[in-house]
Amino acid sequence: MLKRKLFIIGIVLVVLFIFGFLLINTDFYKINKANLLFGKDLCNQNEEEHLEYGLTIVSQYKCRICGKTFSYPSSPTPIICDDCARITHRCQWCGKLKE
Ligand SMILES: [Zn+2]
Ligand SMILES: [Zn+2]
Repeated sequence: MLKRKLFIIGIVLVVLFIFGFLLINTDFYKINKANLLFGKDLCNQNEEEHLEYGLTIVSQYKCRICGKTFSYPSSPTPIICDDCARITHRCQWCGKLKE
């Protein structure tokens, strides 16, 4: 009987683990994380204005939302990746909301 209980607890833990992992990768999670990181202000600059002081060197940047590292052929680099910017409707350069 004890073995059976442990087996059920084991299954529950595995399910919770998988569920937690999936949750971290959802759009909902990314949108919430973006709100926490960057607030809900609108970005009023276009890409050129953000790149005004850019240099042409390949740089690496780490997306502030999903944590993946990307390379970008200029500097300054975006602070969030294409995917996360699209999902959260945010500016890649300052993280603020696009209208
Ligand atoms: Zn990302
Ligand atoms: Zn911006």
